[in-house]
Amino acid sequence: MQTVMKPIDKKITMRKVYNFSAGPGMLPEDVLLQAQAEMLDWHGLGMSIMELGHRGPEFKSVAEQAEADLRELMNIPANYKVLFLAGGASIQFAMVPLNLFDGRQIADYIDTGVWSKKAIAEASRYGIVNVAAETQHQDHLAYIPSQDTWATREDAAYLHYTPNETIAGLEFNWVPKTFADVPLVADMTSMILSRPVNVTDYGVIYAGAQKNIGQAGITIVIIRDDLIREALPYTPSLYSYELQAENNSFYNTPPTYSWYISGLVLAWMKKQGGVQAIYEINKRKAKTLYSIIDTYSDFYSCRVRADCRSLMNVMFYLKNDELTPLFLEQAHDRGLANLRGHKVSGGVRASIYNAMPEEGVNLLADFMAEFVKKYG
Ligand code: PMP
Repeated sequence: MQTVMKPIDKKITMRKVYNFSAGPGMLPEDVLLQAQAEMLDWHGLGMSIMELGHRGPEFKSVAEQAEADLRELMNIPANYKVLFLAGGASIQFAMVPLNLFDGRQIADYIDTGVWSKKAIAEASRYGIVNVAAETQHQDHLAYIPSQDTWATREDAAYLHYTPNETIAGLEFNWVPKTFADVPLVADMTSMILSRPVNVTDYGVIYAGAQKNIGQAGITIVIIRDDLIREALPYTPSLYSYELQAENNSFYNTPPTYSWYISGLVLAWMKKQGGVQAIYEINKRKAKTLYSIIDTYSDFYSCRVRADCRSLMNVMFYLKNDELTPLFLEQAHDRGLANLRGHKVSGGVRASIYNAMPEEGVNLLADFMAEFVKKYG
Protein backbone atom coordinates (compact mmCIF):
# COMPACT_ATOMS: atom_id res chain seq x y z
CA MET A 1 0.00 0.00 0.00
CA GLN A 2 1.78 3.12 -1.20
CA THR A 3 2.18 6.17 1.06
CA VAL A 4 0.60 8.91 -1.02
CA MET A 5 0.18 12.45 0.23
CA LYS A 6 -3.49 13.38 0.03
CA PRO A 7 -4.61 16.75 -1.35
CA ILE A 8 -5.02 19.01 1.66
CA ASP A 9 -7.73 21.61 2.12
CA LYS A 10 -5.62 24.56 3.24
CA LYS A 11 -8.73 26.34 4.45
CA ILE A 12 -9.05 23.86 7.32
CA THR A 13 -6.07 25.27 9.15
CA MET A 14 -2.92 27.28 8.64
CA ARG A 15 -0.43 27.42 11.44
CA LYS A 16 0.52 30.88 12.59
CA VAL A 17 3.82 30.07 14.20
CA TYR A 18 7.14 29.37 12.48
CA ASN A 19 9.07 27.00 14.71
CA PHE A 20 12.85 27.49 14.50
CA SER A 21 13.56 24.79 17.10
CA ALA A 22 16.76 22.77 16.61
CA GLY A 23 14.89 19.56 17.29
CA PRO A 24 12.43 18.12 17.56
CA GLY A 25 11.89 20.50 14.70
CA MET A 26 9.11 21.77 12.54
CA LEU A 27 7.20 19.16 10.51
CA PRO A 28 5.55 19.88 7.16
CA GLU A 29 2.00 21.08 7.68
CA ASP A 30 0.71 18.62 5.08
CA VAL A 31 2.24 15.75 7.06
CA LEU A 32 0.58 16.84 10.29
CA LEU A 33 -2.76 17.27 8.55
CA GLN A 34 -2.53 13.85 6.96
CA ALA A 35 -1.59 12.25 10.29
CA GLN A 36 -4.55 14.05 11.84
CA ALA A 37 -6.91 12.88 9.11
CA GLU A 38 -5.72 9.28 9.50
CA MET A 39 -5.57 9.26 13.28
CA LEU A 40 -8.84 7.44 14.00
CA ASP A 41 -9.15 5.50 10.80
CA TRP A 42 -6.08 4.50 8.84
CA HIS A 43 -6.98 3.49 5.28
CA GLY A 44 -10.54 2.46 6.23
CA LEU A 45 -9.51 -0.02 8.94
CA GLY A 46 -11.30 1.90 11.68
CA MET A 47 -8.09 1.94 13.72
CA SER A 48 -5.08 4.17 14.05
CA ILE A 49 -1.84 2.90 12.53
CA MET A 50 -0.36 3.08 16.03
CA GLU A 51 -2.87 0.48 17.21
CA LEU A 52 -1.87 -2.07 14.59
CA GLY A 53 0.56 -4.91 15.18
CA HIS A 54 4.01 -4.31 13.73
CA ARG A 55 4.09 -7.73 12.08
CA GLY A 56 0.78 -7.34 10.29
CA PRO A 57 0.60 -6.59 6.55
CA GLU A 58 -0.65 -3.02 7.11
CA PHE A 59 2.27 -1.77 9.17
CA LYS A 60 4.69 -3.79 7.05
CA SER A 61 3.52 -1.93 3.97
CA VAL A 62 4.10 1.40 5.74
CA ALA A 63 7.57 0.30 6.84
CA GLU A 64 8.59 -1.00 3.44
CA GLN A 65 7.32 2.07 1.61
CA ALA A 66 9.25 4.39 3.96
CA GLU A 67 12.43 2.45 3.24
CA ALA A 68 11.77 2.43 -0.52
CA ASP A 69 11.19 6.20 -0.48
CA LEU A 70 14.36 6.83 1.51
CA ARG A 71 16.32 4.62 -0.88
CA GLU A 72 14.95 6.57 -3.83
CA LEU A 73 15.53 10.01 -2.26
CA MET A 74 19.12 9.22 -1.25
CA ASN A 75 19.90 6.89 -4.12
CA ILE A 76 21.00 4.17 -1.70
CA PRO A 77 22.66 1.24 -3.52
CA ALA A 78 21.47 -2.35 -2.99
CA ASN A 79 24.60 -3.29 -1.03
CA TYR A 80 23.55 -0.98 1.80
CA LYS A 81 21.07 -2.03 4.46
CA VAL A 82 18.64 0.53 5.89
CA LEU A 83 17.67 0.10 9.55
CA PHE A 84 14.95 1.95 11.44
CA LEU A 85 15.98 1.69 15.08
CA ALA A 86 14.53 2.82 18.35
CA GLY A 87 16.26 5.33 20.55
CA GLY A 88 17.95 8.55 19.63
CA ALA A 89 21.00 9.20 17.54
CA SER A 90 22.94 9.02 20.82
CA ILE A 91 22.50 5.25 20.87
CA GLN A 92 24.53 5.15 17.67
CA PHE A 93 27.40 6.74 19.60
CA ALA A 94 27.62 3.30 21.28
CA MET A 95 26.43 1.05 18.45
CA VAL A 96 29.08 2.29 16.03
CA PRO A 97 32.07 1.28 18.20
CA LEU A 98 30.38 -1.87 19.52
CA ASN A 99 29.85 -3.09 15.97
CA LEU A 100 32.80 -1.67 14.06
CA PHE A 101 35.72 -2.39 16.39
CA ASP A 102 36.84 -5.54 14.64
CA GLY A 103 40.09 -6.52 16.25
CA ARG A 104 41.30 -3.05 15.40
CA GLN A 105 40.44 -1.39 18.71
CA ILE A 106 41.28 2.15 17.67
CA ALA A 107 39.10 4.61 15.77
CA ASP A 108 39.63 8.11 14.38
CA TYR A 109 37.21 10.82 15.44
CA ILE A 110 36.96 14.42 14.26
CA ASP A 111 35.92 16.73 17.06
CA THR A 112 33.96 19.68 15.73
CA GLY A 113 31.72 20.33 18.72
CA VAL A 114 29.29 19.10 21.34
CA TRP A 115 27.89 16.15 19.38
CA SER A 116 31.29 14.94 18.24
CA LYS A 117 32.47 15.10 21.85
CA LYS A 118 29.54 12.98 23.00
CA ALA A 119 30.31 10.40 20.31
CA ILE A 120 33.97 10.41 21.37
CA ALA A 121 33.13 9.97 25.06
CA GLU A 122 30.92 6.98 24.29
CA ALA A 123 33.38 5.29 21.91
CA SER A 124 36.16 5.71 24.49
CA ARG A 125 34.29 3.24 26.70
CA TYR A 126 34.81 0.45 24.17
CA GLY A 127 38.18 1.14 22.60
CA ILE A 128 40.81 3.77 21.91
CA VAL A 129 39.79 7.02 20.26
CA ASN A 130 42.29 9.00 18.26
CA VAL A 131 41.03 12.57 17.92
CA ALA A 132 42.55 13.21 14.53
CA ALA A 133 41.44 16.85 14.20
CA GLU A 134 39.33 19.45 15.96
CA THR A 135 37.68 22.79 15.28
CA GLN A 136 40.15 25.66 14.90
CA HIS A 137 39.67 29.41 15.33
CA GLN A 138 41.06 32.34 13.44
CA ASP A 139 40.04 35.96 14.08
CA HIS A 140 37.32 34.65 16.45
CA LEU A 141 35.83 32.53 13.66
CA ALA A 142 35.47 28.77 14.03
CA TYR A 143 36.50 26.60 11.10
CA ILE A 144 37.12 22.96 10.21
CA PRO A 145 40.80 22.40 9.49
CA SER A 146 41.63 21.05 6.04
CA GLN A 147 42.31 17.34 5.85
CA ASP A 148 46.04 17.67 5.14
CA THR A 149 46.47 18.72 8.79
CA TRP A 150 44.59 15.71 10.23
CA ALA A 151 46.40 12.95 12.12
CA THR A 152 44.32 10.00 10.85
CA ARG A 153 45.61 6.44 11.19
CA GLU A 154 45.83 3.74 8.61
CA ASP A 155 45.04 1.09 11.26
CA ALA A 156 41.83 2.78 12.47
CA ALA A 157 38.67 0.63 12.51
CA TYR A 158 36.76 3.62 11.11
CA LEU A 159 36.74 7.43 10.86
CA HIS A 160 33.78 9.16 12.54
CA TYR A 161 32.70 12.74 11.95
CA THR A 162 29.68 15.01 12.38
CA PRO A 163 28.95 16.72 9.04
CA ASN A 164 26.81 19.35 10.76
CA GLU A 165 27.28 20.43 14.37
CA THR A 166 23.79 21.49 15.38
CA ILE A 167 24.72 23.71 18.32
CA ALA A 168 27.56 25.76 16.83
CA GLY A 169 26.09 25.83 13.32
CA LEU A 170 29.31 24.48 11.85
CA GLU A 171 29.09 22.31 8.73
CA PHE A 172 31.48 20.45 6.44
CA ASN A 173 30.98 21.44 2.82
CA TRP A 174 33.25 18.56 1.76
CA VAL A 175 33.55 14.87 2.49
CA PRO A 176 36.64 13.53 4.29
CA LYS A 177 38.78 10.96 2.49
CA THR A 178 39.83 7.80 4.32
CA PHE A 179 42.53 5.16 3.90
CA ALA A 180 41.43 2.24 1.71
CA ASP A 181 40.35 -0.07 4.53
CA VAL A 182 38.90 2.59 6.86
CA PRO A 183 35.14 3.15 6.49
CA LEU A 184 33.75 6.66 6.92
CA VAL A 185 31.00 7.01 9.55
CA ALA A 186 28.80 10.11 9.66
CA ASP A 187 26.34 11.40 12.24
CA MET A 188 23.99 13.15 9.79
CA THR A 189 21.30 13.85 12.39
CA SER A 190 20.93 17.55 11.61
CA MET A 191 21.65 17.57 7.87
CA ILE A 192 20.34 14.32 6.38
CA LEU A 193 18.20 14.96 3.28
CA SER A 194 19.04 18.69 3.35
CA ARG A 195 21.49 18.32 0.47
CA PRO A 196 22.51 15.52 -1.89
CA VAL A 197 25.12 13.11 -0.53
CA ASN A 198 26.86 10.27 -2.25
CA VAL A 199 26.05 7.29 -0.04
CA THR A 200 28.92 5.24 -1.47
CA ASP A 201 31.38 7.65 0.18
CA TYR A 202 30.24 6.22 3.52
CA GLY A 203 30.42 2.96 5.43
CA VAL A 204 27.75 4.01 7.93
CA ILE A 205 25.36 6.97 7.99
CA TYR A 206 23.07 7.50 10.95
CA ALA A 207 20.54 10.17 11.84
CA GLY A 208 17.92 10.75 14.51
CA ALA A 209 14.60 11.48 12.83
CA GLN A 210 13.44 14.52 14.78
CA LYS A 211 14.86 17.19 12.47
CA ASN A 212 14.52 16.32 8.79
CA ILE A 213 12.89 12.89 8.80
CA GLY A 214 10.03 13.02 11.26
CA GLN A 215 9.40 12.78 14.95
CA ALA A 216 11.64 11.70 17.81
CA GLY A 217 11.91 8.04 18.71
CA ILE A 218 13.43 6.58 15.58
CA THR A 219 16.92 6.65 14.13
CA ILE A 220 17.88 5.69 10.63
CA VAL A 221 21.07 3.75 9.99
CA ILE A 222 22.38 3.15 6.48
CA ILE A 223 25.17 0.60 6.58
CA ARG A 224 27.26 -1.11 3.91
CA ASP A 225 26.76 -4.90 3.88
CA ASP A 226 30.38 -5.84 4.58
CA LEU A 227 30.33 -3.84 7.84
CA ILE A 228 27.50 -5.91 9.26
CA ARG A 229 29.29 -8.52 11.35
CA GLU A 230 29.53 -9.88 14.84
CA ALA A 231 29.53 -7.15 17.48
CA LEU A 232 31.81 -7.08 20.53
CA PRO A 233 30.84 -9.96 22.85
CA TYR A 234 29.22 -7.86 25.59
CA THR A 235 27.00 -5.92 23.17
CA PRO A 236 23.31 -5.94 24.16
CA SER A 237 21.43 -7.90 21.49
CA LEU A 238 19.38 -4.91 20.37
CA TYR A 239 22.58 -2.93 19.75
CA SER A 240 23.84 -5.43 17.20
CA TYR A 241 23.59 -4.24 13.59
CA GLU A 242 23.81 -7.89 12.54
CA LEU A 243 20.77 -8.91 14.58
CA GLN A 244 18.80 -5.83 13.53
CA ALA A 245 19.67 -6.37 9.87
CA GLU A 246 18.76 -10.07 9.98
CA ASN A 247 15.37 -9.10 11.40
CA ASN A 248 14.78 -6.07 9.13
CA SER A 249 14.58 -3.87 12.27
CA PHE A 250 11.69 -6.04 13.55
CA TYR A 251 13.56 -8.02 16.23
CA ASN A 252 11.34 -6.36 18.81
CA THR A 253 8.50 -3.84 18.49
CA PRO A 254 9.84 -0.85 16.60
CA PRO A 255 8.49 2.68 17.26
CA THR A 256 5.71 2.21 14.74
CA TYR A 257 4.15 5.65 14.88
CA SER A 258 7.51 7.41 14.44
CA TRP A 259 8.21 5.10 11.49
CA TYR A 260 4.80 5.99 9.98
CA ILE A 261 5.45 9.75 10.40
CA SER A 262 8.87 9.29 8.76
CA GLY A 263 7.05 7.65 5.85
CA LEU A 264 4.77 10.66 5.49
CA VAL A 265 7.72 13.07 5.58
CA LEU A 266 9.62 11.06 2.97
CA ALA A 267 6.55 10.96 0.71
CA TRP A 268 6.21 14.74 1.20
CA MET A 269 9.85 15.19 0.20
CA LYS A 270 9.28 13.25 -3.01
CA LYS A 271 6.32 15.50 -3.76
CA GLN A 272 8.57 18.55 -3.32
CA GLY A 273 10.84 17.22 -6.06
CA GLY A 274 13.36 15.31 -3.97
CA VAL A 275 16.62 16.22 -2.28
CA GLN A 276 18.10 18.36 -5.06
CA ALA A 277 14.98 20.55 -5.26
CA ILE A 278 14.89 20.93 -1.47
CA TYR A 279 18.62 21.72 -1.44
CA GLU A 280 18.03 24.65 -3.80
CA ILE A 281 15.39 26.04 -1.43
CA ASN A 282 17.64 25.39 1.59
CA LYS A 283 20.48 27.35 -0.03
CA ARG A 284 18.16 30.30 -0.61
CA LYS A 285 16.83 30.18 2.95
CA ALA A 286 20.31 30.11 4.50
CA LYS A 287 21.56 32.85 2.17
CA THR A 288 18.68 35.12 3.19
CA LEU A 289 19.63 34.93 6.86
CA TYR A 290 23.43 35.05 6.47
CA SER A 291 23.04 38.08 4.17
CA ILE A 292 21.17 39.97 6.87
CA ILE A 293 23.84 39.04 9.43
CA ASP A 294 26.59 40.22 7.08
CA THR A 295 24.74 43.37 5.98
CA TYR A 296 24.30 44.43 9.60
CA SER A 297 27.67 43.19 10.79
CA ASP A 298 27.93 46.01 13.36
CA PHE A 299 24.87 44.59 15.04
CA TYR A 300 24.91 40.82 14.39
CA SER A 301 27.82 38.41 14.23
CA CYS A 302 28.22 34.85 13.05
CA ARG A 303 31.20 33.19 14.71
CA VAL A 304 31.70 30.58 12.00
CA ARG A 305 33.97 31.10 8.97
CA ALA A 306 31.90 31.62 5.83
CA ASP A 307 32.85 28.30 4.19
CA CYS A 308 31.82 26.31 7.30
CA ARG A 309 28.46 27.96 7.97
CA SER A 310 25.61 25.55 8.45
CA LEU A 311 22.78 25.28 5.97
CA MET A 312 20.37 24.03 8.62
CA ASN A 313 21.34 25.82 11.85
CA VAL A 314 22.05 29.52 11.40
CA MET A 315 23.77 30.53 14.61
CA PHE A 316 24.42 34.18 15.40
CA TYR A 317 24.88 36.67 18.21
CA LEU A 318 23.74 40.21 18.86
CA LYS A 319 26.88 42.22 19.48
CA ASN A 320 25.08 43.87 22.36
CA ASP A 321 24.09 40.68 24.15
CA GLU A 322 21.83 42.63 26.54
CA LEU A 323 19.41 43.01 23.64
CA THR A 324 19.16 39.25 23.04
CA PRO A 325 16.21 38.63 25.45
CA LEU A 326 14.28 41.51 23.84
CA PHE A 327 15.08 40.16 20.37
CA LEU A 328 13.78 36.72 21.35
CA GLU A 329 10.67 38.14 22.98
CA GLN A 330 9.73 40.36 20.05
CA ALA A 331 10.43 37.56 17.58
CA HIS A 332 8.18 35.26 19.58
CA ASP A 333 5.39 37.86 19.53
CA ARG A 334 5.63 37.81 15.73
CA GLY A 335 5.20 34.04 15.60
CA LEU A 336 8.93 33.37 15.16
CA ALA A 337 9.38 30.78 17.90
CA ASN A 338 12.23 28.90 19.55
CA LEU A 339 15.11 31.05 18.36
CA ARG A 340 17.07 30.90 21.61
CA GLY A 341 20.56 29.42 21.13
CA HIS A 342 21.52 26.23 22.99
CA LYS A 343 22.35 26.72 26.66
CA VAL A 344 26.04 25.97 26.04
CA SER A 345 26.37 28.59 23.30
CA GLY A 346 23.85 31.35 24.12
CA GLY A 347 22.98 33.68 21.25
CA VAL A 348 20.33 33.06 18.64
CA ARG A 349 19.89 29.97 16.50
CA ALA A 350 17.51 29.71 13.58
CA SER A 351 17.12 26.07 12.67
CA ILE A 352 15.74 26.05 9.17
CA TYR A 353 15.15 22.38 8.46
CA ASN A 354 13.46 21.18 5.28
CA ALA A 355 9.96 21.77 6.67
CA MET A 356 10.60 25.47 7.40
CA PRO A 357 8.86 27.38 4.61
CA GLU A 358 10.66 30.22 2.88
CA GLU A 359 7.97 32.62 4.17
CA GLY A 360 9.10 31.87 7.73
CA VAL A 361 12.71 32.66 6.87
CA ASN A 362 11.73 35.84 5.01
CA LEU A 363 9.67 37.02 7.99
CA LEU A 364 12.63 36.40 10.28
CA ALA A 365 14.96 38.31 7.93
CA ASP A 366 12.54 41.26 7.86
CA PHE A 367 12.26 41.19 11.62
CA MET A 368 16.07 41.15 12.01
CA ALA A 369 16.45 44.18 9.74
CA GLU A 370 13.70 46.08 11.56
CA PHE A 371 15.23 45.24 14.92
CA VAL A 372 18.53 46.82 13.84
CA LYS A 373 16.71 49.94 12.71
CA LYS A 374 15.02 50.24 16.12
CA TYR A 375 17.90 49.36 18.39
CA GLY A 376 21.06 49.64 16.29
N1 PMP B 1 23.91 14.20 16.84
C1 PMP B 1 23.56 15.44 16.46
C2 PMP B 1 24.35 16.10 15.37
C3 PMP B 1 22.47 16.08 17.06
O1 PMP B 1 22.12 17.31 16.67
C4 PMP B 1 21.75 15.42 18.07
C5 PMP B 1 20.53 16.02 18.75
N2 PMP B 1 20.39 17.36 18.67
C6 PMP B 1 22.17 14.13 18.45
C7 PMP B 1 23.25 13.56 17.82
C8 PMP B 1 21.49 13.38 19.56
O2 PMP B 1 20.26 12.94 19.15
P1 PMP B 1 19.26 12.22 20.13
O3 PMP B 1 18.76 13.25 21.08
O4 PMP B 1 18.21 11.71 19.20
O5 PMP B 1 19.99 11.14 20.83
